[in-house]
Amino acid sequence: MTTLRIPETGRDRAEILEAMKSFGGDDAKWRDGRTWSLVYSLGDEHTRFLKEAHGLYFSENALNPLAFKSLKRFETEVVRMTAHLLHGDAQVCGTMTSGGTETCLLAVKTYRDRANRRRPEMIVPATVHVAFEKAAHYFGVKPVHVPVDDAGRMDLAAARKRINRNTALIVGSAPCYPYGVIDPIEELGALAQQARVPLHVDSCLGGFMLPFVERLGHALPPWDFRVPGVTSIGADVHKYGYSAKGASVILYRNMDYLKHQFFVYTEWPGGIFISPALLGTRSGGPIGAAWAAINALGVNGYMEIAGTVMDATKTLIEGIQGIPGLKIIGKPDMSVFAYASEDPALNIYVVGDIMEKKGWHVDRLQKPEALHAMVTPGHADVADRFIEDLREAAEQARAHPEWAQKGNAAMYGIMAELPLRGMVRKNVLKVMEQLYGPEGAMPDFDAGLNDDGEAPEPDLAVKAATLFLKLKRKLMGK
Ligand SMILES: *Cc1c(COP(=O)(O)O)cnc(C)c1O
Repeated sequence: MTTLRIPETGRDRAEILEAMKSFGGDDAKWRDGRTWSLVYSLGDEHTRFLKEAHGLYFSENALNPLAFKSLKRFETEVVRMTAHLLHGDAQVCGTMTSGGTETCLLAVKTYRDRANRRRPEMIVPATVHVAFEKAAHYFGVKPVHVPVDDAGRMDLAAARKRINRNTALIVGSAPCYPYGVIDPIEELGALAQQARVPLHVDSCLGGFMLPFVERLGHALPPWDFRVPGVTSIGADVHKYGYSAKGASVILYRNMDYLKHQFFVYTEWPGGIFISPALLGTRSGGPIGAAWAAINALGVNGYMEIAGTVMDATKTLIEGIQGIPGLKIIGKPDMSVFAYASEDPALNIYVVGDIMEKKGWHVDRLQKPEALHAMVTPGHADVADRFIEDLREAAEQARAHPEWAQKGNAAMYGIMAELPLRGMVRKNVLKVMEQLYGPEGAMPDFDAGLNDDGEAPEPDLAVKAATLFLKLKRKLMGK
């Protein structure tokens, strides 16, 4: 890769496009419903429509809202429609952002600036999205973690105890990414009001799903602007809003909060500079596509899709609960959930390896060890097949407990359990350096099951760490 350079003469465009298509051959098979994260699709027709809408504003730049009134109009209308959906009144205002991460970063920055403390802190559930850890790191805000209860909800009493005069914000999720569980937002709202601190609700996942789940008749705890203490909400249009990637919304109760998000610099030789959010140049494509998606689907479209997704979720959850040794973590409120082993003889990461071998792309969780699923309409057709494969995988994993010490399962197990987190961090950083080094090499994660379906022998480092963990368990009498 180090010798690669820009071609001296440009290549044929048709050839380039053919080459690009061929590069996707080894990608995760999201079109067949084989992935359980990353892609939210409604099928080819909707995708074509999104591409067209995206293409119409492909070149326009929302950096200057005065230059492209079209983009400002799309943004304003997306913000207003989202505010109405989440029961905000006429005072609610906000901006579009490039995605959930930017939305989370901005919430932390906004409340840090508003609090104006020397050592600002934020109170977050242990299950809060990792974008908040990133925000804490970037913006110098100390994250104060609160555990979650057995249902997966933020522990209120613990949250109350951690509030102090440096608390710049409290965050709750609706729902949280790991378990799909909504935090006790109503109670957190009361707490926040009492303590006079803002409450941000991270509804990046749920913003365009929960309102329709509620309308379908599912009982949900209140979590949006109907809860008095909620001061802001983030909602991704590029997840369950089914728009093109690069679109999220952050809403504030009123301008007294939003104004702390804005950046103004008056002394730049390049001119007086204003910026509503994090980015400079902002493509018009995702903004236009978000507007188009919301208008095309409408409430009836979103409700129909939510119905399909919730039916598939029910099939999956009940299917998993019917497999001996497996359980769902907490009480999921929508179409996102985690499943774990409740049988010491059944290693869930081995189940993951076997499922991977069967062509399913599943994400691994830790603390506790589990597998994860985010259900989309495409999963309706594969839910039964998935459960069949999972049942087989669980049986096979139970028959081969020794696989837990080998291959990927051993690696994930060690990464999750090793008490020396600094060592885990160092190793993960090494992988990053390999990925982004001059060679741009993909690390060898293919230590899962070999072609015969067996886990290969672990390498020396894995053996050493496994020994260490065994020793630790023995010492702790477990
Ligand atoms: C996806 C997600 C985010 C981050 O969004 P990105 O669009 O991936 O940057 C934040 N919070 C929750 C709950 C999410 O699910």
